[in-house]
Amino acid sequence: MTNHSSPFRGLGSVHNFNAGPSILPKEVFEQASKAIIDFNGSGLSILEIGHRTPLFQAVMDEAVALVKELMQLDSEHEVLFLHGGASTQFFEVPMNLLNENEVAAYTDTGVWAMKAIKEAKQFGHVDIVCSAKDQNYTYLPKHFPVAKTSKYLHITTNETIGGCQWQDFAPFYEMGVPLVADMSSDILSRKMDFNKFDLIYAGAQKNMGAAGVNLVVLNKNCLGKVSRTIPMMLDYQKHIENGSMLNTPPVFAVYVCMLTLRWLKKTGGVDAIEKINNEKATLLYKTIDALPIFTPTVAKEDRSKMNVVFVMKDASLEKEFLDACKKENIVGVKGHRSVGGFRASLYNALPLSSVQLLCEVMKSFAEKNA
Ligand SMILES: *Cc1c(COP(=O)(O)O)cnc(C)c1O
Repeated sequence: MTNHSSPFRGLGSVHNFNAGPSILPKEVFEQASKAIIDFNGSGLSILEIGHRTPLFQAVMDEAVALVKELMQLDSEHEVLFLHGGASTQFFEVPMNLLNENEVAAYTDTGVWAMKAIKEAKQFGHVDIVCSAKDQNYTYLPKHFPVAKTSKYLHITTNETIGGCQWQDFAPFYEMGVPLVADMSSDILSRKMDFNKFDLIYAGAQKNMGAAGVNLVVLNKNCLGKVSRTIPMMLDYQKHIENGSMLNTPPVFAVYVCMLTLRWLKKTGGVDAIEKINNEKATLLYKTIDALPIFTPTVAKEDRSKMNVVFVMKDASLEKEFLDACKKENIVGVKGHRSVGGFRASLYNALPLSSVQLLCEVMKSFAEKNA
């Protein structure tokens, strides 16, 4: 029903609700593909230039500056682009922040939190301060105590698979414990006081770029407090000293991040994208709530605005619904295998028109199957 015009075959004609890697702005794909052929008129591809050339240094510098600007970071906070995806941060964080005899507090809110917990246990003690496992991670526990002696508190701001997203951070800010957050699937999707966090990490492939790079934002004052030897490539301090270029960085992935950050700034920054994200999520949840054949799985106050998870009362209709979506060029709404049903990911680059179309398909499917 939408009609984007693009010189690139297919771009913009598919409504992409994939959970990750996921949709990026069309203009980012166009610019990135041009840079593979001829980067900034240099006659060289971005894939064949040295990472220590002024050409690439400018990309890294702009990416870092855009993160600082969009997140309104203070001078204590450093920005790194690292290899290994968010899963590497699951162990790199405790390796750099937690001594063997110390305790870190972790919230157990879903598949991703659980993985972070498992890795942290290899480096120190883990205190699971709350868990939503009892209800299959369909809500977020509130009002749990966290010991002031905890080295840090780790939260997952948005559980990409279960579909829960923390909405109120005030209780975390007031705990008086350094705050560490996995923001892989909602980074830069909404306003937040990012300076309140000691460490934020996010795999780029959900909301800010291509797979292969990981954004780490950290308060440099939290470093230098562990006694273990840290391998060079996993040492935040060394990465800071070397401007994320201890070795060859994932050049192209950093470039795609930079382009996406440029796009976000042009769109009006985090404030503007939050308004659009709210509009998209409100419309989709309203549609689900109004149609008895669909059931949202997550407690109302904890519903994610990035990953909308829902099931069908009559599971035998699931395939037929996915076929109806496919007919309208809607892809990526099949649920994660551990939850079933459906998951529609509404990342920054997904236009409202795609959500409107999905809602239309849901309504007419519900009418037909009433
Ligand atoms: C996708 C995801 C991860 C894992 O990211 P990788 O880059 O594949 O390691 C971790 N945490 C969250 C919240 C995610 O959504």
